[in-house]
Amino acid sequence: MSVKREDVLKDENLIKNIEEIAKDAALLHGVLMRTKETPNSPEVVSYAPFTLFPTPVPKALFYQALAVQTHFNRLVDRVSQNAAFLEETLASTIKVDSFTARLFNIYKQVQQENHPQSIVVGLNRSDYMLDHSPDGGTSLKQIEINTIAASFGGLASRTADVHRHILKVANLPEECKHVVDNNPAAGLARGLAKAWELYGSERAVVMFLVENVQRNIYDHRYVENELWKRNIPVIRRQFEDVFRTGSLDESRRLFVDGHEVAIVYFRNGYMPQNYTSEQSWEARLMMERSLAVKCPDISTHLAGTKKVQQELARPGVLERFFPDEPETVAQIQATFAGLYTLDMGEEGDKTVAMALANPDQYVLKPQREGGGNNIYGNEICQVLENLKNSSERTAYILMDKIQPVPVQNYLLRPGAPLKLSSCLSEVGAFGAYVRKGKDMVLNECVGHLLRTKSSEHADGGVAAGVAVLDNPLLV
Ligand code: ADP
Ligand code: MG
Ligand code: MG
Repeated sequence: MSVKREDVLKDENLIKNIEEIAKDAALLHGVLMRTKETPNSPEVVSYAPFTLFPTPVPKALFYQALAVQTHFNRLVDRVSQNAAFLEETLASTIKVDSFTARLFNIYKQVQQENHPQSIVVGLNRSDYMLDHSPDGGTSLKQIEINTIAASFGGLASRTADVHRHILKVANLPEECKHVVDNNPAAGLARGLAKAWELYGSERAVVMFLVENVQRNIYDHRYVENELWKRNIPVIRRQFEDVFRTGSLDESRRLFVDGHEVAIVYFRNGYMPQNYTSEQSWEARLMMERSLAVKCPDISTHLAGTKKVQQELARPGVLERFFPDEPETVAQIQATFAGLYTLDMGEEGDKTVAMALANPDQYVLKPQREGGGNNIYGNEICQVLENLKNSSERTAYILMDKIQPVPVQNYLLRPGAPLKLSSCLSEVGAFGAYVRKGKDMVLNECVGHLLRTKSSEHADGGVAAGVAVLDNPLLV
């Protein structure tokens, strides 16, 4: 006879018993990470942190996130091609944020060169939380869209089987059917493979541009191995390798270590610390100037900034990108939370006053990625009191804080004791698209990700050590 989830969560003996089974299942199914101590060696590996049970997610909201993804793919792609929009939107930000400014300088430099490569491949992940309004309704609200180095598509392809196994052992077999199949690794690889074919050289490689600390390498390997299955050669290199051994020939083909590079897939380069020296920046510029297809190119990278997200939420802006598609505009807009400018002027002043009056209702966000950078609660007041009359405030945007309903679960993390936690989840939809000139030759939603964190933490991120991998249990 099958039992109830609430009873299972409270049954300490059962939980203790399935803890080990769960961790072994993660290892057996390849939900792996290298250890903090030896991130660059495969001799000792562990399981990637995950929840003991999948988390209930309303079916309609889950499918809404998947359905709107092809529209987001087109939106990002259109923003990336609109130089006037990018320039206007980022003008205030780049005056005070030196990282975004450096990216923008590269963008300007390549733009002036009349770029020879018309193939673009975008692999992104749009993240959402389920906002619970006081009137009892729940709606899907976008947190952000990641247009560079969006991760966990590999490991997420393996977690569903782990949770199905746990549910059986926990005597909840009925729930297995509500854990959705998922294979973003194959879909992300499909995008890269399509772009590689269009590049049109059998010898040319796909180069994963990676960090020197490679804890999350197995997440990459799933995508890499999908490419090798198609006989597409893959190499992994760092900025430093590109700087040392990279060059452009007379037609600006990129060669690294003697390999012609068809695609540069950035799994690094999204935060300031990734550029360890001037040489990293020079390497980025060389890749951007080259004929290699970039995933993403510099303009698509900039299209994923939080400042752009805020500008897109302004009334009438989406309509400029989809002038003949009111349905598309409505579907995208429905997922937007309140986003507010901090630019100098009346509108920005209003934002400051609003945030200072009710800091707990907002999140203050700088132009940063990777988790752990946002500002919440009282700290918002401290920061804005300091910056309210300075243009430094334009490095940030303000966003409505999404309020999901907490769900009880256990978080499994190497070395951490097991305890029942009140948890919040974030749903991601993976997008893949390829454009050649004016033609979208591929545009798909290729899978999903659920990440869950203890509600004690305001910010998230699996790599940041806060969130863990999860699966939606459709209800
Ligand atoms: P990053 O690019 O660093 O991942 P995010 O915008 O995704 O930046 O913010 C990091 C984390 O902060 C999210 O994973 C989420 O947990 C939390 N967060 C961000 N925005 C909001 C919001 N508007 N409401 C509630 N939580 C948020
Ligand atoms: Mg991000
Ligand atoms: Mg995020």
